[in-house]
Order: sequence, then C-alpha cells, then structure tokens
Amino acid sequence: MKINAVKGFRDILPPETEVWSRLEDDARRIFRGYGYAEIRIPLLERTELFARAAGETSDIVEKQMYTFEDVDGVSLTLRPEGTASVVRAYIENGIYGREPVSKLFYLGAMFRRERPQKGRFRQFYQIGAEVLGRDDPLVDAELLVMLSDYFSALGLVTARIEINSLGDSSCRPAYREELRRFAEARRASLCADCNRRLETNPLRILDCKEDAEKTRDAPVMIDHLCEACAEHFRAVRERLAAESVAVTLNPRMVRGLDYYCRTAFEVVAEGLGAQNAAGGGGRYDGLVASLGGPSVAGVGFALGVERLVLALHGVEAASEFDLFLAPLGERAEARAFRLARELRRRGLRLEIEPGRKSLKSHMRRAAKLGAAFVLIVGDDELARGTAVLRDMRSQAQAETPLDPSAILRALRPSQTGGAL
Ligand code: AMP
Repeated sequence: MKINAVKGFRDILPPETEVWSRLEDDARRIFRGYGYAEIRIPLLERTELFARAAGETSDIVEKQMYTFEDVDGVSLTLRPEGTASVVRAYIENGIYGREPVSKLFYLGAMFRRERPQKGRFRQFYQIGAEVLGRDDPLVDAELLVMLSDYFSALGLVTARIEINSLGDSSCRPAYREELRRFAEARRASLCADCNRRLETNPLRILDCKEDAEKTRDAPVMIDHLCEACAEHFRAVRERLAAESVAVTLNPRMVRGLDYYCRTAFEVVAEGLGAQNAAGGGGRYDGLVASLGGPSVAGVGFALGVERLVLALHGVEAASEFDLFLAPLGERAEARAFRLARELRRRGLRLEIEPGRKSLKSHMRRAAKLGAAFVLIVGDDELARGTAVLRDMRSQAQAETPLDPSAILRALRPSQTGGAL
C-alpha cells in the first residue's frame, strides 16, 4: 500500500531546496552582522507555555495547536511559533543574568492545524529574530532596517513593511473600552466571530475581513496613544525615514497575539495570493515577566519561509556543476575517481559516473546536469598523464595534465590566471 504524507505536511525537494538554503544562508549572514546569535529551541513544549504566551483567545491557541497528552499525563504541543519558546529558554537558562541584552535568531518548523491552501501549510518554516533587554526605539528601528537589508539581499523587491503602534498598559485599556463601545453599538450587524471577540478580545475586530466595511470608522489605537508610546512610535519612524526604509502606517493592524505592545509590523509581499503576509512581529515588553521571568523588554519578528520562496517566484534553476568527469574504461574510472575527490576537496562541485558508459551518454548526462566543463579521461590520454577538457559553452577542447591544480587553473581563469 502506498503511504502518502499527512495533509498540510509536505516534502521540499531539489531544486527548490537550493532557494531555501540561500534564504537561510543570507539570514544567518545578515543577522550575525547585526549582532544576533542562533538559538535552537525544541519542537515540543508544554501546552501551557503557548496558552500563556499567545493568549487563550488567540486563534492559534483556540483552534490551531497540535496538542496531545503524553503517557505521563502532561499536555504537550508542537510549537506553533517561536517567540514563546525563545522567551522560555531565556528565562530557564538564566540568560538575562549573564547578558543585559540578548539578540537571538532561529530557523525551523512550526505547526498549526489550519486549512491548507496556497502558501499555508500545517508544517511550515519560520525565520525569526528576538531582542531581549532593550525597550528603546532605536532597537525597533534597527530590527526593521535589518529586515529591509535582508529583503534587498534576497532580491525581494515587492516586500512592503506596514507598521502600527498598539500602545501599552497605560493607554490601551481605555482605547479597548472605546472600541468595545463602538462595536457594541453595531453588534447586530457584526459577524458571529466579531460578536465573540467583543467579549474576549475586541481589538481583533479590526482584523476581521468580513466586517471591515462596517468598522471603517472605528477608533484606532494611534489616535489614543499615551505620551510615552506616541514618542516611542515617532522615534522609530523617524529613524526608519532617516535610513530610507519605507514603511506604511496601517492603523488597523492589531496582530493576532495578545503579547504585543507598542511597535507592531507586518511584511506584505506581492504574488502570495490571499495569504499575502510574509512575516510579522512587534514589541512584547510584558511577555518575559508574564512567563515567570524578570521584567525585561522584548521585540522580534517571524518570517514565513514558504511565503518568501513564493514571493521570489519559487524555484531557481538548479545550481550548476563546475565539472563533469567522464572516464572511458575501468582504469580511467579509478584515476578519475581519485581526481574527483581531490577537486572536490578544493571546492569544486562536480559529478563523476562509471567508466563503462559511452562518451555520448556521458555528454548527455553532463548537459542535463548543466556542467560548465567536462573532463574526458580516455586510455590514450591516461597513458600520457593527460585528459581532454571541454568547455560546454564554447565547445572548445584542449588537452590538460591530469593534475588538480592544472585543471583548476583551466576552469577558473579569472582567479588563477589560466584559460582554456
Ligand atoms: P505569525 O506568527 O502568525 O505572525 O506568522 C508569521 C509568518 O509566518 C506569517 O506572516 C506567514 O508568513 C508565516 N505563516 C504563519 N502561518 C503559516 C502557515 N500555516 N503556513 C505557512 N506560513 C505561515
């Protein structure tokens, strides 16, 4: 019987994996430049961690988590997001006691039981970054500048950052009450979900696509910020403007999770269809304390890797081989096999196939692999200690010594001064 993957879980195959590697490599390189270090967090956590961090009424906790009871009766959940785990690790390992500021990034799979569709899976991957221990606007701005640099490196020209401020515990409660009163007065015309949100989490009413028209005149947080939050937001935007990082103000953006305060943002990219969010994040100053840690500020983001890949138009051409080794006969095969190892050790990406194949079939395979050069090792040349190197683009051929340095020189004329 054929066994298929679970719905919403999928294989990521070559050549698409080449795009994934590039995305991850660029993230590692750029984030490191901004002072971030990688953290690896478990896939499985106690359920209460997410319930407490994301909020009992968030969509994730209410209906999307893969939760099961372990044999000892403990409720466990496959991580639906990374921030809660990073903060748990930060507290549990006492990192705050060693470092006044921690800048951490992670890459990895997340699990949410959503309805699968284009760009939406039940196992998906995120690249995320968190700064713990700084509440100043400079670090929010730096995070967004870093994102912008990352998108430039990827060539993701359509990415746009939307930004908002969600206030804090001194100004949000009054605003929330005002929004609740606004929605209460229109309760009958609002959808069932919004009626429920009215009781549990009124801010999320602004998120509702169905009722968007009906709540067009709803009060928004940025008109109700306290002095300190308004100043913080102004400073973030001023820094971004000075760095020419374009952000669009979106006063209706509330983000799904309870823990956000002040700066909130989303990355929107073209070509993603209905799921146009490529990432999001914001400030979460109360989260560390609410998970039992000290009162330490936090800010971070998570990007969806599948969405970035989609926005980059998916698959790039398979990366080319530098060289294809075509031995003709058994003795040539043994010599070419050793040569292959020597050249790979020097950084060449090459392929070699058995000596019993004909020259014609070797050449077909080399073309299929997109090899830039083919080294034909035949008996006559082998006796002279040479081989024939063919440039697949120009079709030019020349005899070359069977020596790794000579071959490298011929392949990389610009770096080594040689040419075919
Ligand atoms: P969130 O933590 O919900 O803000 O998600 C951050 C980013 O992760 C989103 O903007 C998406 O790019 C990505 N993401 C979230 N859920 C999924 C999913 N089910 N499938 C694919 N990507 C997702």
